[in-house]
Amino acid sequence: MKILVPVKRVLDYNVKARVKPDQSGVDLSNVKMSMNPFDEISVEEAVRLKEDGKAEEVVVVSIGPEKAQETIRTALAMGADRGILIKTDETVEPLGVAKLLAKVVEEESPDMVVLGKQAIDDDANATGQMLGALLGWPQGTFASKVEIADGAANVTREVDGGLQTIKISLPAIVTTDLRLNEPRYASLPNIMKAKRKPIDMKAPDDYGVDIAPRLQVVKVTEPPKREAGEIVESVEELVSKLKNEAGVL
Ligand code: AMP
Repeated sequence: MKILVPVKRVLDYNVKARVKPDQSGVDLSNVKMSMNPFDEISVEEAVRLKEDGKAEEVVVVSIGPEKAQETIRTALAMGADRGILIKTDETVEPLGVAKLLAKVVEEESPDMVVLGKQAIDDDANATGQMLGALLGWPQGTFASKVEIADGAANVTREVDGGLQTIKISLPAIVTTDLRLNEPRYASLPNIMKAKRKPIDMKAPDDYGVDIAPRLQVVKVTEPPKREAGEIVESVEELVSKLKNEAGVL
């Protein structure tokens, strides 16, 4: 089995996002960027399937700037076999990403594509589903457990009321949720080894895909500042403040 894992380079989850003064987006100059946390979970799952003898090859693909190579190297250091960078400095929306991934799937013929359920920069939660639709493949989204047997995947999904397990035939799309696994840290020897693993350099034009944006960002603003809390002396005072000042009772 071959597994394709798309990985996105995003603002590190520990970094507080700064909005550009013209409100056109988030300022990404001189800030730490990392692999989207859900994509780390996808890489981990794919590598575990390889270690369990269920998969033979794990290929990672990223669509983004030259520096997204670092994100691919991180995945290679975790245990993926090779990478593909589709280099572009443009912002590529989920539909453009899904169209490019569909072309990569055509070339690579993986049995499973494991994506993150969402990229934490734009929170679109759309690429996996769009890719499933473009390919006509079954999809198991928000996976908290994945088991492969007899040409199918049993995917346990976190839904509102609890856990739902579905069986989907391969090839299929899986999107990963937070509780699927705990991604490993790459060891130093593996980081060194990853430097010798191949990364294929491509461009969106190589796939003949139109990645022009379909959406227009109207404005990006910071969340309202939270006001400082207040310590009250008694329950009566709390109730009175909730009634008369906060207006919530
Ligand atoms: P989104 O639909 O943007 O929330 O992203 C969901 C998932 O799609 C991510 O977790 C990645 O696995 C994949 N993805 C989105 N954008 C990219 C990209 N530029 N390069 C590689 N994978 C991506």
